[in-house]
This record gives sequence, C-alpha cells and structure tokens, in this order.
Amino acid sequence: MILHIDMDAFFAAVEQRDNPTLRNKPIIVAGNSKRSVVSTASYEARQFGIHSAMPVFQAKQNCPQVIIVPGDRHKYAAESKKIMGIISNFSPLVEQVSIDEAYVDIKGCEKLFGPPASMAHKIKTAIFTELSLTCSIGIAPIKFLAKIASDMDKPNGITLISRHKMDPFIQGLPIAKVPGVGKQALKLMAVLQIKTLGDIRKYDQNLLTTKFGKMGSRLHELSLGIDNRQVETDYTRKSISSETTLSQDIFDPMTAKKILLALSQRVGHDLRKKKMICCNVTIKIKFSDFTQITRSKKIDTWICSSSAIFKQAICLYEKIVLKKKIRLLGVGVSHFMDKNAPVQMELLCAPGEKTTKRWESVDMAVDSIMEKFGSDMVKKASLNKPKQKIIAQPKVGKMSEIACTNVTIKGRVQGVFFRAETQKVAILLNLAGYVKNRSDGSVEAQFQGNEEAVKKMIGWCRTGPPASRVDHVLTESTPILSNSDTFDILY
Ligand SMILES: [Mg+2]
Repeated sequence: MILHIDMDAFFAAVEQRDNPTLRNKPIIVAGNSKRSVVSTASYEARQFGIHSAMPVFQAKQNCPQVIIVPGDRHKYAAESKKIMGIISNFSPLVEQVSIDEAYVDIKGCEKLFGPPASMAHKIKTAIFTELSLTCSIGIAPIKFLAKIASDMDKPNGITLISRHKMDPFIQGLPIAKVPGVGKQALKLMAVLQIKTLGDIRKYDQNLLTTKFGKMGSRLHELSLGIDNRQVETDYTRKSISSETTLSQDIFDPMTAKKILLALSQRVGHDLRKKKMICCNVTIKIKFSDFTQITRSKKIDTWICSSSAIFKQAICLYEKIVLKKKIRLLGVGVSHFMDKNAPVQMELLCAPGEKTTKRWESVDMAVDSIMEKFGSDMVKKASLNKPKQKIIAQPKVGKMSEIACTNVTIKGRVQGVFFRAETQKVAILLNLAGYVKNRSDGSVEAQFQGNEEAVKKMIGWCRTGPPASRVDHVLTESTPILSNSDTFDILY
C-alpha cells in the first residue's frame, strides 16, 4: 500500500503555531509585490473563498481583515526536513514530492507498525507530537488514488481506499478530479458523456489516444486501476527543476539568459547536494498569454556543474523563435546517476570541455556559500550588472540612500576567519577591494562593484559571519579602480 501525506495549510499552520496571535484567524502567507499570489491560506481564510494562487488583492477583497504574513522559506524548509525525517522512521521508501507532501511505500512495514490505517495514525501522531502540525493522509494501492484520498478528509484526516473498494471508487470519481484533466479536455468529455473516471472504460483506448493524446491512454489505465509509478526515493527520483515567474514579462534575450544562468545554478546546486550527475536538461517557458513550451536535450556525457547545465539550457533556448513575451522560465535536469557510481572519470569531462573540473571547484565554493547564506547570496559574475558610473552623491551612513557603485565599509568584527570569509564572498559577488586589520584591532574592508552587490556584501558583513559585529559603516563615492578586479587580504 502507498500513503500520500499532505501537510494541512502548511506555511500558514507553521506561522499560526509560532505566533499565538495568529491562531484562529484568517491569515495568508504571501509576498508583497504587485503580482503576489497567496501561497497558503489558513483554514479560517479558506472560509472566505481564499485559496492558494489567488492574487493577494482578491484575497483582501474577499476578506478585508485577512492578515498577510510574509513567508519564511528557510523556516518552512527546516520544518519540512524534520517532517520527512519523522516519516522516514516508518519506512525507507519515502518520496518527497513538494515541501509539504510525500508518498510512502509501506510494504514490509506492517509487522512493525500494524495495518496501513494504524500506521498512518502513528505517523500523524508522531508529527503532531514533535512539531504541533497536522497532516492528512490518503492510503491506496496506487499512487494516483493515495493522492486523491489525502484530499478527501482535510484537515487532519485519514482516508483509506482498499483494493476491493478501488473499483467502485473509480466508477464514481468525477473526471474533473483527475490530475491533468484541464478545461479543454473537460469540454470534450462532456460531449462524450464522460462524467466519472469509470465512464472512460466505455471507450476504446485507441479512440481515447486519438482524442486526448498521451493523457487518453493514461486515463484508460487509471480507469482500470493501473498506475505503475513507483515510490521513488532520492536516488531514483526523476528530475530536479527550478522555475521563476518574472516580476514583469520580458522579451530581452540577455535578461532571459541571465535568469537561465541563475536557475541553472540553483538546479546544479540541488543536483550536487544529492551527489548525483545527470545527462538530460530541460527548459520551460511560459509566455505572457499563459501558453507554455518545454524543450529537452539528452546529452552524451554526465554532468553536474552549473555551467554545463547552463550551456545546455542556452542551446535549447537559442533554438526557440521568440514571438511573445516571457512570463516564466524554468530549468530542469533528469536521467540521474549516483555521482559515486563506478563511472570513468573521463565521462565527467566532455570532449573540449577542459574547464569542467575548474567549474566543479567553483561550484563547490558557491555551494558552500549558498548553504550558509541562501541562494540569493551568490550569482556568477556574468549575472551581475556591469560596473556603472557613479550616478549620484551618496549620503554617508544611510544604506537606503546609497546611489553609487563605490562604497567603503569599515567594520569592527571579532574572529580571525572573517577576512578569508569576506574575501570568498566578495569574489563570488564580483567585487573588487580589500579587507585588512587595523591597528586598533578592528577590521576594515572596502568593496567596489555594482551597487546591489555592494549592498549585499555590507548586509553580509553585518549579519553573515556568526561572530561579526559591524559598528561603523561609511559609504562614499570613490573613483572606479580601473585596473583592479581583485579582492585582496592586506596585511
Ligand atoms: Mg499541503
């Protein structure tokens, strides 16, 4: 049997748990940009018709007293890790499908934890006892039904579809509830008088394939209770991807490429974290009219460096003739293999790609910084804006009013590692300058580069290193150091 575990209103529940004043109130977790959408609504907010992906302004219209809580990605990721840790105490076969959802194959676990429903109950209790969070669990012989079942008794429910109940359940399951069946398909289904998944059986598989393409044959299988997808653990997981909806639709190819680079970096980071290599790269583009395309490329070498992923993504991107503005970009990798599997090392270096090894060491440095300070901290040099001319006189001491590209920071910090760490981060942010010890025992550093990167650097000095204590910030415009691209530790 397979369990599908889905946390109840996950982000909102974490916020309500951590802040008692938010409990029993309509809250939404959402960003605050113009185009923000609700990422999670508490059950109290859902009573007003608010749901995930609804624009924030609409949520406010539905419920003027709704409380908007900015999300905390790191906190949710940490909670998610704890949840997955608890679940994996019950079975080794856990497939995390999103931050708050997982499939669990419980075959062979019954001797230890009892029949499926009681095991589900034990998992729920363990999660609630340790984290004060509730979840809903669906249990079924196949993945597809387990997922549908977890949604049937939310929040805090357990729904079991046993093997002998599968057939009547499928007979009565509204076709609109089947994942992947969109509006267009539903129109055609109505004409064919297909109201439930069971109704699919009235039609021949060939006819379904002609009418609905790949989905037709999949629906045919599902209607017969066949879903051959296994619960895949990290090692067998099929893909890693990252995508971003842009703050405004774009047409400019340079901007698109810069975004593809950032996405490649994120995907490469995840891939390397899992100690895997891949041989397939995919890009996804959603256009301003919400139509979407994906392009994939199988490569004849194994890769894991961000630059190799980026190179493939760019190849795919350049073959697309852009006619509409881009709304969303995504990069994904698939076809994995364990990095430590006995592959010849030459395979890791494609012919003509002598720099792969060098990029791997750059990746390792970037990864360690990303782990520590989050993925926004690091962007490869070509993602940073070119150095600009000084555009205004900055006001001394007020970070919010910096309008120049050259900034001097003087800070007092403790710890001998600070200088080396500062240098590492400064280089990754493409900044020139220096860091040195002063005679009074404090540390002084000067950064020069684009404004955003300099601001980030200063933010990092203030809060990044664990023992840092920056008590003095000076910003001033300085002439661009024409010949210097380095960041040095001065003694
Ligand atoms: Mg959920």
